[in-house]
Amino acid sequence: MTVICWFRRVLRLDDHPALVAAAAAGAVIPLVILDPREASDRPASAQRQAMALGPLDHALRKIGSRLIVRRGDPAKVLEQVLQETGADAVHTTVGFPFASDDGLAEVVERGGARLHLHDLADLVPRGSVLTGSGGVYKVFSPFWKAVRQVDIAPPLAPPSLSAPDAWPDSDGTDWPEARAAMDRGWDVMAAHVRAGEEEAHARLEEFMSGDVAGYKQDRNHPWRPQATSGLSDALAVGEISARRIWSRCRGEFEQGIPGIEPFLSEVCWREFARELMFETPDMDRSCWRKEWNDFPWRADNDDAEAWRRGRTGVPIVDAGMRELYVTGRMHNRVRMITASYLTKHLLTDWRVGLAWFEHCLADWDAASNAMNWQWVAGCGPDASPYFRIFNPETQAEKFDGKNQYQDHWMRPDAPGAREFAAAIPRAWDLDLTKRAMPRISLAEGRARALTAYEEVKS
Ligand code: FAD
Repeated sequence: MTVICWFRRVLRLDDHPALVAAAAAGAVIPLVILDPREASDRPASAQRQAMALGPLDHALRKIGSRLIVRRGDPAKVLEQVLQETGADAVHTTVGFPFASDDGLAEVVERGGARLHLHDLADLVPRGSVLTGSGGVYKVFSPFWKAVRQVDIAPPLAPPSLSAPDAWPDSDGTDWPEARAAMDRGWDVMAAHVRAGEEEAHARLEEFMSGDVAGYKQDRNHPWRPQATSGLSDALAVGEISARRIWSRCRGEFEQGIPGIEPFLSEVCWREFARELMFETPDMDRSCWRKEWNDFPWRADNDDAEAWRRGRTGVPIVDAGMRELYVTGRMHNRVRMITASYLTKHLLTDWRVGLAWFEHCLADWDAASNAMNWQWVAGCGPDASPYFRIFNPETQAEKFDGKNQYQDHWMRPDAPGAREFAAAIPRAWDLDLTKRAMPRISLAEGRARALTAYEEVKS
């Protein structure tokens, strides 16, 4: 029997429930389908996926298999590959929260095969950790407490694979649509990416053998990037599973080694976001607290454009926006500062910021992005209260006291500065040596945000 294992953002051999089941069922055709809509909707994330394909193909070839890559509409491609290969079954992981599985079984049946949907190898199977009354946790701390009491399943070892009698054609691991969509050029972000399953495992080991004890404090300092694991992009494209991270940390966690518990609790925030989105799939479009739908946030505007282009005149915000554009990442603390500045000082709708992050992030994750934007904006579950307004200058003093992070990204010769300047519309001040004029004073922005909040509350 020949079966297809369709890799959907689970771009690894380790801890892959669909691959293990496929291997047990017969000869396996590993398939990735690159959807051009993804390239245009979120080019950085598409590039990050594309960069994972070469290493995945390499890992498969080492065990006598290979990766078949096809580009096009997933349903049509799947049907076509089924017809070409006569495969009897398709094994894949569930699409949530990135893609819908609606109609998939029919597509596979039209191709003469059966669909088998498998678990995503997250820490806990979706919907299995519930409150006493059977609902999804809406507050993080009790969710984290509950997850700690669960016996998390051990990761699955990579299976051996038997090859089919004939291999279908592959379009190769390059993704021209994603290349074309990367307006700052592919190489700019590529310089900041460590792609592949092996690299993800190496990064985890580097993190574990580094100063883990300092994680709790140092994770907030953007100029100490090695203080955190840097695994978010690998998790987002599935080069490593949350279960693998948990299993690697388990011994140290049980011994109470400092730093491990806060690290695992961060990994669990990702899980929390996925639980919430499982229950509220429109979390990236609609305020989670419905009363916030009346808040007078401004739609997209010139200030938001200045924010996107790193020209707000607030150094820590502008530095963060450059880091995001150039590297496809932004330090978590700076994500909070920039998001707060947009939604509060610039009184702009959180969805405007969410969309830009979706466009730029290599580690884009539908659930984490939506939950965090709503958390900062004050309209999400377990959110930071709206009236608690980050002062970006105080934040910068506290977490980047020597201006190392800000100086690094604001230098005219900073990495990617040329590409960054080229991306700024011509009407803008292109002189990166000059600081932009603030759009609004911090005091004024804060007062305006609080007035809006008071009006809605009353
Ligand atoms: P570490 O500190 O090493 O943490 C380990 C892992 O825990 C991370 O890789 C990540 O998977 C998870 N994690 C850590 N913090 C969070 C968090 N606040 N929420 C959810 N999971 C977390 N993260 C994404 O992966 N994708 C996104 O699209 C995304 N959008 C964000 C938007 C905003 C406005 C904010 C404030 C945060 C967002 N985050 C997002 C969370 C966080 O900023 C990144 O996961 C973090 O920068 C990852 O760095 P790291 O891998 O070195 O983290």
